[in-house]
Amino acid sequence: MSQHVLIAGGGIVGCLTAMELVSRGCQVTIVERNQIASQTSGESSWAGAGIVFPLLPWLYSDHVNVLTSYGAESYGAICQRLLDETGIDPQLITSGFLLLPEFDRAAALAWCGKNQLPVQPVRASAFGVQSLSGEDALWLPTVSQVRPPCLMHALRAWLEQNNVRLLEHTALEPLGETASLREWRTTSGKVLQADKFIVTSGAWSFDLLKQVASKLRIKPMRGQIVLYKPERQLEQVVYREGFYLVPRRDGYLLAGSTLEDVGFDPSTTPNVREEICAKAEAIMPDLKGLPIIKHWSGLRPGTPENMPVIAQHPEVENLYLNTGHFRYGLTMGPASARLVAAMVCGETPWTNPAPFALPQ
Ligand SMILES: Cc1cc2nc3c(=O)[nH]c(=O)nc-3n(C[C@H](O)[C@H](O)[C@H](O)COP(=O)(O)OP(=O)(O)OC[C@H]3O[C@@H](n4cnc5c(N)ncnc54)[C@H](O)[C@@H]3O)c2cc1C
Repeated sequence: MSQHVLIAGGGIVGCLTAMELVSRGCQVTIVERNQIASQTSGESSWAGAGIVFPLLPWLYSDHVNVLTSYGAESYGAICQRLLDETGIDPQLITSGFLLLPEFDRAAALAWCGKNQLPVQPVRASAFGVQSLSGEDALWLPTVSQVRPPCLMHALRAWLEQNNVRLLEHTALEPLGETASLREWRTTSGKVLQADKFIVTSGAWSFDLLKQVASKLRIKPMRGQIVLYKPERQLEQVVYREGFYLVPRRDGYLLAGSTLEDVGFDPSTTPNVREEICAKAEAIMPDLKGLPIIKHWSGLRPGTPENMPVIAQHPEVENLYLNTGHFRYGLTMGPASARLVAAMVCGETPWTNPAPFALPQ
């Protein structure tokens, strides 16, 4: 009989994990306290910008970059499969990434060289944007982006088609101390049984696991995004000093985002909106005076050094974690899903999981 795996949390990480487990013949249930592919209380996956690249990869450890590079390579096949099998297009496009100064040029060029990522010095004006510096920008033509709400809808449809049980509007209780997990209670008193359990609850993971993983360091980090519909659209993602503009195929332009340590508060704020607009207009002056179509926020699962925890719990039998992907959960999702699925199914993992162990 195939093993039954319960996944706690239906964001991008939970959904990609379910996809991997289905392909290994597991019976899978996802428990999601809201609705998959929606945004109710700050879920990160719907809210993200969808850049399939870790912005400034030279700032991160090789461990993080192993996951982001694997993820970036996987999206072509994942998105094609989702489109073919569900008819929903996640809108993966290789729009490229224009990096405006200031940045560490030597580190950027060295990293791109070492990782064979095509890169070219260019003038920002050739791309119709303004640089505040006289220095060259860098053009990374192979960087891609996906549209998170479309990706999430496609994943949800695929999981339904493949008999994954989606228990939505069902919240799990925090786990109590235990040595072996066979069942997990919901807040409405239901008892859910499974052979194995994987926590993919994003920013809320520590709340669920406090009693059994007291050293897990995950906290919400809010990010706000503003949406424009400019008359002249950009072709590429543009990044300058912690801020980006992301053009969508249908003419919308995302501007963001922020990194705010404000707890579980998913609201948007007028001062941040002004800040974002000022930064966006400095890069693209024709945005001045345009109406803001939408303004939203999401709560990232923040972790030190952007290191996720992808591990079997060392003491609680049958409990696994795949969480804490912070700024790059979409990019790292395919890699971490494959890694945790290998652990659950007793396969040899595709990369060494030791760096992603639960802190003790
Ligand atoms: C503004 C912004 C921009 C971003 N841009 C990018 C980007 O360009 N590229 C990139 O790679 N990443 C980006 N990210 C980061 C990325 O979105 C996250 O790393 C990723 O979404 C994390 O996915 P997750 O599934 O772990 O978390 P979530 O999407 O938050 O999912 C966790 C789920 O668990 C559910 N849950 C929580 N508690 C319970 C419970 N008790 N019972 C049942 N369910 C529960 C929640 O409702 C939620 O749906 C961005 C994030 C933000 C906020």
